[in-house]
Amino acid sequence: MRQYPLEKTRNIGIIAHIDAGKTTVSERILFYTGKKHKIGEVHEGDTDMDWMEQERERGITITSAATTCFWPPVDSGEDTHQINLIDTPGHIDFTAEVQRSLRVLDGGVLVFDGVAGVEPQSETVFHQAEKFKVPLIAFVNKMDRMGADFYFDLQTINERLTKSAHPVQLPIGAAETFKGIIDLFEKKAVIYKDDLGKDIEIIEVPEDMKEKVDQFRARLVEAISETDEVLMDKYLKAEEISIPELKKALRKAVVKSEIIPVLCGSALKNKGVQSLLDAVVEFLPSPLDVPPVEGHAPDHVDKKIPCPASDDAPLAGLAFKIASDPYVGKLCFFRVYSGILKSGSYVLNSSTGQKERVGRLVRLHANHREEIQEAYAGQIAAIVGLKNTFTGQTLCDEDHPIVLESISFPKPVISLAIEPKTKQDQEKMGIALQKLAEEDPTFEVKTDEETMQTIIGGMGELHLEILVDRMKREFKVEANVGKPQVAFKETIKTTAEAEGKYIRQSGGRGQYGHCWLRVEPREPGTGFEFEDEVKGGAIPKEYIPAIEKGVKEALDKGVLAGYPIVDIGCAVYDGSFHEVDSSEAAFKIAGSMAFQEAIRRAHPVLLEPIMKLEVITPEQYMGDVIGNLSSKRTKISEMKDRGNMKVVDGEVPLAEMFGYATELRSITQGRGSYNMEFAKYLEVPKNVAEEIIGDQEKEKSKKK
Ligand code: GDP
Repeated sequence: MRQYPLEKTRNIGIIAHIDAGKTTVSERILFYTGKKHKIGEVHEGDTDMDWMEQERERGITITSAATTCFWPPVDSGEDTHQINLIDTPGHIDFTAEVQRSLRVLDGGVLVFDGVAGVEPQSETVFHQAEKFKVPLIAFVNKMDRMGADFYFDLQTINERLTKSAHPVQLPIGAAETFKGIIDLFEKKAVIYKDDLGKDIEIIEVPEDMKEKVDQFRARLVEAISETDEVLMDKYLKAEEISIPELKKALRKAVVKSEIIPVLCGSALKNKGVQSLLDAVVEFLPSPLDVPPVEGHAPDHVDKKIPCPASDDAPLAGLAFKIASDPYVGKLCFFRVYSGILKSGSYVLNSSTGQKERVGRLVRLHANHREEIQEAYAGQIAAIVGLKNTFTGQTLCDEDHPIVLESISFPKPVISLAIEPKTKQDQEKMGIALQKLAEEDPTFEVKTDEETMQTIIGGMGELHLEILVDRMKREFKVEANVGKPQVAFKETIKTTAEAEGKYIRQSGGRGQYGHCWLRVEPREPGTGFEFEDEVKGGAIPKEYIPAIEKGVKEALDKGVLAGYPIVDIGCAVYDGSFHEVDSSEAAFKIAGSMAFQEAIRRAHPVLLEPIMKLEVITPEQYMGDVIGNLSSKRTKISEMKDRGNMKVVDGEVPLAEMFGYATELRSITQGRGSYNMEFAKYLEVPKNVAEEIIGDQEKEKSKKK
């Protein structure tokens, strides 16, 4: 039985620029929701990491991918809501992480530093939330800090992000005099008499703030009325609009991302967090308020299937995070969109086509794990015991297969060599990298056969930097890393044929393998295909797989610069054999020789990863930003306004983007930000290709 109705469920994320107070706000939320017994102070602990480890030892999982809490607290006797706090990455530079968290949450709390206002990453996360249509409320934190200024923050939000942010509260005092918060609806103030948020008093608006409160309230009422016809009518007739009417309309406007209510407080000093929770419940959407996600039939991308937020619909949901838990092992965090997920049941992983048994189901709270039997539509649960399900995959009812608009994870486009500092590090590094790769589908680990070096691959410079950093901090592995390399590929442009002969017939048993192959280009992204067109037994059937194996091995190392060959078809159509001397080994070598020769004849070219780029910059730096992009072979497709910023969209080769974060920072005085994600592979221009091939040859001769 469902305990918490769907309309009383909130799946939210807290997003912020690093250091604005995301951790502290999350912590206080867990404290006030009554599920956590002690307030942990980030600034009093040794370091964040130590603190997290201690928390973990105590079994507190504030950093889990999704933590469930209740507001008002369950024992308050009031009607309570289930809030699932979904962890969003602290670093927003690799889109896969951000996308997957934005995909599963229905609303967000954007936290600002009360001194700094809008910072570059607040802009990036804001624009991403906008793109994914995630409704937001804003919380101006750190009102107790020296220099804190609510109105400055508000101005930066209005100027740099959006004009539709409106305060629903005003602070009383700032910095050391910050002592209370006025509710603009009720025109009442909460005064905090200590820093623990325990001793509070409700008072009327202080005399010296009355005018300001009236001004801001009038603006708020006008803004809300503009989003609702009935209220607009009343507003124009100067009729009184009741608080419930205003709040109801505001809720609708927030859900449609038309208004962002702005609140304030100090998480550290326990001020304002309860009213933030009230606002989450009052204004952010439940799963019922957002449009249902859409999926498609596994074999028909065009056959769309909606997933209504209903327990009666067939099960459909998304695995959005794999994490290792010290107590129960591998956990798969799962958002149920439709239907009911039951422990012990069998479900279909429609992304792989395999059936999986759902072992136990747990819900993670701040200080305990709760074993549950069922997770309902709109809820989030962690599944224990799945073997072959990974981030981004859909689990669904076997009889109603559906693939949710999947978070698509591209193959790594950048790689670097990593070397353990000592023998002890070697073993630890292997384990650490494997764990990290399990958690992150865009992170790849492999061994270079020639040099025996460990190579890690990912989606960008910063992505790999962060993973290496996590390896060092969380797994205590010391390692040296090499320079990042772009993952080039090779392909062919025409059809060609070639012969491969591997014949040794001097003394003892000979070797005899002989085949003719034809290679042809295939559509980008379609990979490799092998066909057997041999007629009349020119080559006996049993040797064909050996030829295919030889070809596949040759695919790994292209003929131009040794990069993997992609999007190519290969057919074996003729050859010969010897009754005694032919063997699988001989045909394998012949296959590989013929393939390499055919490739050389088929006009081989180098491919490079092209990234979709979005640069956000204040107008005054636009010229310099574009000039700099032009020097990077960027194709600019669009320039537009977003809020008060300029946005440049385009495509750029990844190879040109090393160190761009630093460049952009210096061009825009730290105010520009950018997002980059993999788009496609394209042929490298001839002059650039020659350079790359030359470099590779130099590398090779160095190794020899
Ligand atoms: P995160 O990086 O966004 O998760 O930020 P943290 O929650 O770790 O906070 C960063 C720093 O700001 C820590 O030293 C916190 O103690 C401090 N901090 C967080 N909230 C407040 C606040 O309301 N007032 C003050 N003065 N400091 C705060």
